[in-house]
Amino acid sequence: MNNSSIAFIGLGNMGGPMAANLVKAGHVVKAFDLSAAACQTARDQGVGIAASVAEAVAGAATVISMLPASKHVESLYLGENGVLAQLAPGALVIDCSTIAPASAQKVAQAAQELGIRMIDAPVSGGTAGAAAGTLTFIVGGSAESLELARAALQAMGKNIFHMGDAGAGQVAKLCNNMALAVIMGVTAEAIALGSAHGLDPKVLSQMMAVSTGRSWATEVCNPWPGVLDNAPASRGYSGGFGNDLMLKDLGLAVEAAIGSGATIPLGELARNLYAMNRHQGRGRLDFSSVVELFRQQD
Ligand code: NAD
Repeated sequence: MNNSSIAFIGLGNMGGPMAANLVKAGHVVKAFDLSAAACQTARDQGVGIAASVAEAVAGAATVISMLPASKHVESLYLGENGVLAQLAPGALVIDCSTIAPASAQKVAQAAQELGIRMIDAPVSGGTAGAAAGTLTFIVGGSAESLELARAALQAMGKNIFHMGDAGAGQVAKLCNNMALAVIMGVTAEAIALGSAHGLDPKVLSQMMAVSTGRSWATEVCNPWPGVLDNAPASRGYSGGFGNDLMLKDLGLAVEAAIGSGATIPLGELARNLYAMNRHQGRGRLDFSSVVELFRQQD
């Protein structure tokens, strides 16, 4: 195992538990987050906290980031005072945030010009997967860089998919989330239709879960309250994957489609559905709360 220290930037819902799993696997971690509360939660889990980004990355051979969106990643790494300018040639950057493929390519290009390796490694598996160390990493970048990153990724996840060159991990992540958004939307619509006809949503869901309409939305994250005890729907849509994060990912998918000329009619429709859900005040709730757009009020 490589015992040189890993700098970890962004200790939010995902980054905090990911950094803690690196520590559990024996890595020395120096982490930083702008939020003092996020730093404290990670410190409580044994993660070493630095006073600034500069202190976290000083002398680091590997930097991992888990930030909200493209603008945060670009401002962390690029520019005269950016992290890339503070790293030595040969260092490895692993960005796990979900961001625009073009942003990932821009940072990777800047890294390459400085002799720094970079992979985009967005994740699937949610906060539960981050805590359990069972995330799926969806990687873009060179095969050599992925090999250098593998030990750290294995400390935080279970599956690693190499999708292609820089940005390819982000494209694949957007494809997965666009499919998930559409499947959740239509599952919500179907259960609401059944309910409007007097069907029991629980029995309808149980039937669908062993029939051709089955999916993660019927079996694991069912959108109807009370159908699955452990789903966000049964705890007021708290503690899942936020509607606004899904909305961000669908916006990135639409941008990627415009950039490549791909047609994504269902993805574009889904983006509007989750935007409507946000406008009705459910932006911070789990994205399965989109079912509220279809539920008939008594
Ligand atoms: P979060 O908002 O909980 O955490 C982001 C953290 O980054 C915050 O604590 C914030 O203070 C910190 N931050 C922002 N700018 C910073 C900077 N310059 N320096 C240091 N810290 C900074 O978000 P999250 O839920 O952890 O998600 C992170 C990324 O993972 C997003 O791109 C999201 O789309 C993706 N993702 C999230 C989930 C999920 O279920 N939450 C699942 C898969 C992927």
